[in-house]
Amino acid sequence: PPLDELVAAVAVDIPDFPEPGVVFRDLTPVFADAGVFRRVVEALAGSVLEDPRVGALRTGPDDPGFDVVVGVEARGFLLAAAVALVAGTGVVPVRKAGKLPRATVAAEYALEYGTAVLELHTDSVRPGQRVLLVDDVLATGGTLEAAAGLVERLGGVVSALSVVVELPALGGRERLRPHTVHALWTT
Ligand code: IMP
Repeated sequence: PPLDELVAAVAVDIPDFPEPGVVFRDLTPVFADAGVFRRVVEALAGSVLEDPRVGALRTGPDDPGFDVVVGVEARGFLLAAAVALVAGTGVVPVRKAGKLPRATVAAEYALEYGTAVLELHTDSVRPGQRVLLVDDVLATGGTLEAAAGLVERLGGVVSALSVVVELPALGGRERLRPHTVHALWTT
């Protein structure tokens, strides 16, 4: 079956989590299924190859168009490390405030349920380095906007953003322009 149908079948909708009126898409069963997880990871790494913006950054057929994968705490970590392994790159964490031990850049942002601060080690992305940003769910786009901003403050180039699930009603894709969002399942 097509990957979006597989993900839709395995993901679990949780009504009224983390607060009344919100339907939370729980992707942990998607990560737990060996076959679906492999396809998801390969699709996250591969979908950007079709992206003309990424194509313009590629130096040859063996170059994925990014030098490092940045994953957002916490579910983004599960995906980013696997995508990096498949693509042959390293992986860098964007973390919640206070978790990273060395010098960081920080961004406060509004998310679907409240506000938060994200941080990135200042030496973890070098000027001109090309970055693929990965997370599990794109909702309002606030999280990935903050993460992309941190990468750019260090001089990094955002090649593209890859997510498993996009909730298009919340306008994240528009908010993240001019960056390109690749979503495996839009719902
Ligand atoms: P945004 O910043 O509004 O785009 O929210 C995206 C962030 O919140 C991501 O890091 C997601 O992991 C998390 N998130 C928002 N909605 C959901 C959901 O329905 N399921 C799982 N994670 C979600």
